[in-house]
Amino acid sequence: LQKKYKDLEFPRTKYGGRSVVTMLPGGGIGPELMTYVREIFSHCGAPIDFEVIDIDPSTEGNEDLENAIVSIKRNGTAIKGNIETTSQNLSEISRNVAIRNELDLYVNVLHCKSLPGIPARHQNVDIVLIRQNTYGEYAMMEHEAVRGHVESLKIMTEENAERVARYAFEYARQHGRKKVTTIHKANIMKLSDGLFLEMAKKVHKDYPELKHENMIIDNTCMQLVSNPHQFDVMNLPNLYGTIVANVICGLIGGAGLLSGRNYGDYYAIFEPGTRNTGTAIAGKNIANPLPMINAGIDLLNHLGYKDHARIIHEASYKTVVENGIRTPDVGGSNTSTDVINSIMDYLPNANVVWPHE
Ligand code: ATP
Repeated sequence: LQKKYKDLEFPRTKYGGRSVVTMLPGGGIGPELMTYVREIFSHCGAPIDFEVIDIDPSTEGNEDLENAIVSIKRNGTAIKGNIETTSQNLSEISRNVAIRNELDLYVNVLHCKSLPGIPARHQNVDIVLIRQNTYGEYAMMEHEAVRGHVESLKIMTEENAERVARYAFEYARQHGRKKVTTIHKANIMKLSDGLFLEMAKKVHKDYPELKHENMIIDNTCMQLVSNPHQFDVMNLPNLYGTIVANVICGLIGGAGLLSGRNYGDYYAIFEPGTRNTGTAIAGKNIANPLPMINAGIDLLNHLGYKDHARIIHEASYKTVVENGIRTPDVGGSNTSTDVINSIMDYLPNANVVWPHE
């Protein structure tokens, strides 16, 4: 393997040429998974320096959150674990949602692709979810009008619905996909989901080579469980997006596999696909490291370190798929560190193989 990678063109690490990325470890299993990412990156010489910001959800005020946002604005990219929202107090917003809104990360991309050999209800699933990532049901505009009467606003704008739909169609075109399915509940939420659907139909006119279908969210859940292979790219409002993401992850092997990407016009954040905290399994050396390793691979691809991304992907594929070194959530009996050690064994060591030096 070392020989195979000998002629690779790695981006050259040079003084001032390293990328700085914000790291938000979050709670639960986040910090331990970040440690693995750092070990793997440093082992294969990925020229990334992390600016680590811990957000403690139990502290008063939002100083940590503001530091995190400033850091991401400065660095452009972040890798992130889930930050727990511990309080029901209305004045305490979800830090995760606040970060996405503040940075206008309007789209979440989740490529739900089965891994061969992973015990799952369905094999060979290959669906891309393009989810509205700001506003919609996550506008965080709830209030108790009078005691016992709560109102919650779902915000849908032409501009937001249109740019999410355009992302979905553009993604489909650029990746050789054939069909986009817009998911909605426009029969009941006639104005908000109606607008989401209307914008998708409008954008579709610019992509005549692609098929566009629409499906009501409840039927979508049933169709996914019985025949997920009918879906290609899905265009989803915010809340339905997270529900569908979790349904598909459940169908193909659980929360411990996929990464998700959050994009806006200026910033990008990479994180585990289903955004779990995993508090109950933290510190036990049993969490599946793959969602964060895959987030790291997405990050490397985004920054242009394609070869680093590819060799880490190949090493984790050999570990999990070919050699069956797997954590319990995907039917194995290995520890998290067994998985990481195997990935490291497959990686060319930066000290040994460093082309063109
Ligand atoms: P808690 O966060 O307290 O563990 P929860 O019910 O909120 O509880 P989530 O964090 O949402 O759980 O995770 C959902 C499920 O997925 C849990 O059973 C969790 O253990 C599992 N899970 C999440 N991430 C991973 C992972 N990386 N490896 C293995 N299992 C995971």
